[in-house]
Amino acid sequence: MTDCLFCKMVSGEIEPDKVYEDDQVLAFRDINPQAPLHVLVIPKEHIATLNDVDDTHRLLVGQMVQAAASIAARAGMDGSGYRTIMNCNADGGQTVFHIHLHLLAGRRMHWPPG
Ligand code: AMP
Ligand code: ZN
Repeated sequence: MTDCLFCKMVSGEIEPDKVYEDDQVLAFRDINPQAPLHVLVIPKEHIATLNDVDDTHRLLVGQMVQAAASIAARAGMDGSGYRTIMNCNADGGQTVFHIHLHLLAGRRMHWPPG
């Protein structure tokens, strides 16, 4: 997707503040962090919303979740804990239409979320 911000990060057209990369997944710091550690984990493949995830993406989504957990562990925040979030469409608050897992850590989270 030529017009997608996160695809441009995958291709290197825009250089993210990268914290993790493997064959399928890229993770970088959120530009507007909402916690001391705020990372976005994205698939390298363009998938617009969670509604577009199908059976062929099962391992990929698992890899995203595993990447988030390992980033938290590497930051020493696995024991204290963290939150992962995937927003979908308008009511979910999605603003970038390439799926991403938010990893937030380093402060106590509130519940319910706003
Ligand atoms: P969402 O609202 O769930 O779609 O999340 C999109 C996230 O992307 C927001 O937390 C933004 O701060 C973040 N974001 C937008 N542009 C950039 C960028 N250039 N680099 C890193 N994060 C970004
Ligand atoms: Zn994309």
